[in-house]
Amino acid sequence: MSATQPRHAWRPPFAIRIATPIGVLVTALASLFTLCSELKPVPVPPAPAAALALPSVALDAERAHNPCALPEVQASLAAGDDEATVAAFGGGEQFRAAVVVGNAPCIALDDPQRLWVVVNKLRPLAPTDYAPASLGRIGLAATSPSTGLVEDAVTALGEMADAARAAGVGAIGVNNGYRSYRLQQTTYALHVREQGQSGADAGSARPGHSEHQTGLAVDVIACSPRCGGLDEFGSTPQGAWVAEHAWEYGFVVRYEQGETGTTGYLPEPWHLRYIGRELAAAYHHGGYRTLEAFFGLPAAPDYRH
Ligand SMILES: [Zn+2]
Repeated sequence: MSATQPRHAWRPPFAIRIATPIGVLVTALASLFTLCSELKPVPVPPAPAAALALPSVALDAERAHNPCALPEVQASLAAGDDEATVAAFGGGEQFRAAVVVGNAPCIALDDPQRLWVVVNKLRPLAPTDYAPASLGRIGLAATSPSTGLVEDAVTALGEMADAARAAGVGAIGVNNGYRSYRLQQTTYALHVREQGQSGADAGSARPGHSEHQTGLAVDVIACSPRCGGLDEFGSTPQGAWVAEHAWEYGFVVRYEQGETGTTGYLPEPWHLRYIGRELAAAYHHGGYRTLEAFFGLPAAPDYRH
């Protein structure tokens, strides 16, 4: 458009000709500074009263935006201490938030050795025939030989059962803990024979897709005066107590009423998944009802094929 403009127009005095570019430069610098400030992840408060406050502000910013760079996160990950890793993130909610916004590339939600693994109909175990390196044995009354569980979960389950008994709701026992890939093959095949494939898929995981294969899931039952079955657990005093208190021991009820569209399973008040106390507290206080929602993952109502 400059080509059509008159070549000569009024020429401003020298002082204005100099002042204008300087003004533009100052304005540009000022807006650049503002822009830079806006780009900063966390505004650093101007001139903190105590110089000691600075490292903590910097650490908080690092925790929120690049937690995987923190030495304590790297050390706990290398040591396989998942509770310490979550704590190093600043707690369960900070851990969850960092994962959801994509600030935690060192956290793999598909690593079956970690407390934060998410297994569902769209997220099979990798490898499919994964087995935990070591398992403890649940010391509660049991109605099947599948009483293995990862050590920390065994301890937490024992503490939960003690607390339930102390609260006067009676004994809690176990129906099924760890199930191997092979055992899941047998279990699933049995369900298919009895209910057909769609019936089996509503209540039993296909081999390689079961949380029980991680050693982090357990089906609990009421055992006072005798051990009952899974289906009645939800209506027992133990079932009501577990629904309210399991999170205090690091467990979540994985398949809740009304969440079948997300989890792919009918409600199972007996199926507890161990995620550790820090994450379970964040899950509870945040009002989450599925691990998929907790970690911002897509709903998994059905298998891909
Ligand atoms: Zn189960």
